[in-house]
Amino acid sequence: MAVFKPENVEDLYEIEEVLGSGHFGQVRKVREKTSGTCWAGKFLKIRKSACSRLGLERSSVEREVEILQALKHPNIVNLKDVFESRSEVVLILEFVSGGELFDFIAQKENLLESEAIQFIKQILEGLRFMHSNNIAHFDLKPENIMLSDKVSPRPIIKLIDFGLAYHFSPGEEYRSTSGTPQYIAPEVINCEPLSTATDMWSIGVITYILLSGLSPFQGDTDEETLKNILALKYEFDKHYFSTTSAMAKDFILKLLVNNSNERMTAEECLLHPWIKPITRTQAVSRHRSSINIRSFKKFNAKRKWKMSYNMVRMCNQLVSLRLHCKSSSKQDPLERECESDVEDADSKPASLLRRRLSSSS
Ligand code: ATP
Repeated sequence: MAVFKPENVEDLYEIEEVLGSGHFGQVRKVREKTSGTCWAGKFLKIRKSACSRLGLERSSVEREVEILQALKHPNIVNLKDVFESRSEVVLILEFVSGGELFDFIAQKENLLESEAIQFIKQILEGLRFMHSNNIAHFDLKPENIMLSDKVSPRPIIKLIDFGLAYHFSPGEEYRSTSGTPQYIAPEVINCEPLSTATDMWSIGVITYILLSGLSPFQGDTDEETLKNILALKYEFDKHYFSTTSAMAKDFILKLLVNNSNERMTAEECLLHPWIKPITRTQAVSRHRSSINIRSFKKFNAKRKWKMSYNMVRMCNQLVSLRLHCKSSSKQDPLERECESDVEDADSKPASLLRRRLSSSS
């Protein structure tokens, strides 16, 4: 079982600026007092009583910690330490300072497929390691694919956020309806058993977006997006894929497959000719094809705008909830500190909220 240190994190680390916010707390830069080294502190609010709806269950945090402890790989964020106080668990993680991969690419004027492949390959290597340990991430999306630093010419991919990840025991069936609509596989929507192949669908979606700047199943509403996924309704629009190689499309086609048993595994992806060319023609085609950078920049700008919008909406919900808490005399006192439970209050459909409500059978 994971060991959570009872010491006060502030005795050992200076707490600095906010790096990001999640549904259950903040991630802040922290500096180790003895060495001056920077780390990322993920502060997670813990449910104070079994009947409270607020915060995360301790078991859910234990799961995230145990998974991170099992995953020591250059392309996966490293967990250094864990502290626990009465209401919070703090994960001390490797500080990933290069920002999101998508933001890095969006700053470029062009990107050859051969360059994009160097990043995809690293994502696949992280996944191959994870999957060989019977662990699935279940929340692969651009926000969770970061770069080690901003200065090196070849930054290293770091996969983050193992809050929805799951460690399969032999022969076990696991179902969950958590995830982000654009990136989830049909089996998530159908509440069918999940597997490491569920991550491979998300890799197909991410690669499609990276090459074209279009999201393959995106509808006007979440319901429409989910319907498009179930109907496998997507195409390679000539206008957006004019600079894409046939091999890249083949790579995507072999991931966006309804039957999870027929999808390429991470291991197979690493052997696909788009990633590992066998002939000279295959190698050359990757240097002649490029991503649709204009369209990609637009996609990324829209994505960032939506993220800021959601953050403001979450803050507004928090303010109104606090006002409600103050004016309600019958309110459970625990609920006055309910900032971690205001997420996606009016998002639809309810079963696909980005939250940790999973079930195993
Ligand atoms: P969500 O509710 O979206 O799943 P979460 O509470 O699980 O979020 P993370 O996704 O792990 O939290 O982190 C939230 C944000 O904090 C990330 O999007 C990223 O910007 C930043 N972040 C997380 N881990 C690190 C890290 N190791 N180094 C630098 N920044 C990080």
